[in-house]
Amino acid sequence: MSEHRMEKVVIIGSGPAGHAAAIYSARANLRPFMFEGFISGGVAGGQLMTTTEVENFPGFPEGITGPELMERMRAQSERFGTRIETEDVESVDLSSRPFVVKSGSQTVSARALIIATGATAKRLAIPAEERLWNRGISACAVCDGGLPIFRDRVLVVVGGGDTAMEEAMYLTHFASKVILVHRRGEFRASKAMQKRVIEDKKIMVMWNSAVVDAVGETGLRGVVIRHLPDGKERTVEAAGLFYAIGHTPNTKLFQGQLDLDETGYIVTLGRSTRTSVEGVFAAGDVQDKVYRQAISAAGSGCMAALDCERWLAEGQG
Ligand code: NDP
Repeated sequence: MSEHRMEKVVIIGSGPAGHAAAIYSARANLRPFMFEGFISGGVAGGQLMTTTEVENFPGFPEGITGPELMERMRAQSERFGTRIETEDVESVDLSSRPFVVKSGSQTVSARALIIATGATAKRLAIPAEERLWNRGISACAVCDGGLPIFRDRVLVVVGGGDTAMEEAMYLTHFASKVILVHRRGEFRASKAMQKRVIEDKKIMVMWNSAVVDAVGETGLRGVVIRHLPDGKERTVEAAGLFYAIGHTPNTKLFQGQLDLDETGYIVTLGRSTRTSVEGVFAAGDVQDKVYRQAISAAGSGCMAALDCERWLAEGQG
C-alpha cells in the first residue's frame, strides 16, 4: 500500500541547490520534505559526488572532496528538520494544486515544489572511461583543472561549443599545451570565443577528429584520437581528458508541464526562480546552463527557498 501525505514544501534533488533550498526553508519553519534521487551512476547528492577535490567552494581553504561537501550539506539540512527520502521521483502532476509527486513507495501532495534535479554531463563512453574517470578523465575543467596531476602537462578537451572554448582557455593556465579535439571542421561556439581559442598559442585544434579511447591503468597517460576523414588513429601523450560535449538537464519528469527552453532547461522568470507554473520553483543546473558551479547552484537554491517562502506567506498555494 503506498502512503499519501500532504506536505507544505517538497524539494526534488539533493545537490547543492536542493540542500541550500532545504536549509533555508527548514529554518523558515516550512518543514521541507526532500526526495534525494539518483543520478545515472546511482548516487544521491548530484554531480559533486563524482568529483574528487573541490577547491573553489568558499569556506574550505584547504579544499574538500565533493562527497564530503555533500555529506556536510545533507547533515545541515537534517539538522534543521528536513526529512529526506532516498528514492527517485517517478512522476509529478503539476496540473492543479496541491501538486502530486509520486515515487515508488509513496504519493505526496505538495503546496509548493522546488525542483533541483540538476543536469548530467554527457560522456563519450570510450572503453577507458570507467577505469580512468577522475583519474585523468573529467567533465569539468573548472572543477578539476587546477589539480596537481594536470600541472604543466598536455591536456585534451573534446567539443566545439562555448563550454569547450571556455574550458580549453581555462586549462591554458595550468597546462603546458591544450589540444582541442572537435568532430567537425568548424566550431558551433560564438565567434568571439572561437577567435580567442584560435589565437591562443597554447591551444592546438584537431579538426574532424574523435577521441576513441585513452591509455593508462591508474592514471591517464595518453588519448587515442581518430582522424575521421581517413580513419587513422594515433595516441597523443596527455595527462588529462576533459569532456565538454554538453549537458542534459534532468527535466524528463516535467516535459509538457513546465516551460522548458529549446535545450530542455527549465525557464525561470526574470531574476527569480519562479517557473511557468505558480508555486513551482527551480534552482541549480536544471535551470542554469551558463554558470553550472556548486556555489551558483547553492545560491539559486537559497533564492528558491526565499521565493517559495514569500509565495506561501502571500497566502498562495
Ligand atoms: P553545445 O551543445 O553547444 O556543444 C556541444 C559540443 O560538443 C558541440 O560542438 C558538439 O559537436 C560536441 N559533441 C556533442 N556530442 C559529442 C560526441 N558524442 N562526440 C564528440 N563531440 C560531441 O554545449 P555547450 O556545453 O558548449 O553549451 C551549452 C549551451 O550553453 C550553449 O547554448 C552555449 O552557448 C551556452 N554556454 C554559454 C557560455 C557563455 O556564454 N559564456 C559558456 C558555456 C556555455 P557538434 O558541434 O558537431 O554538434
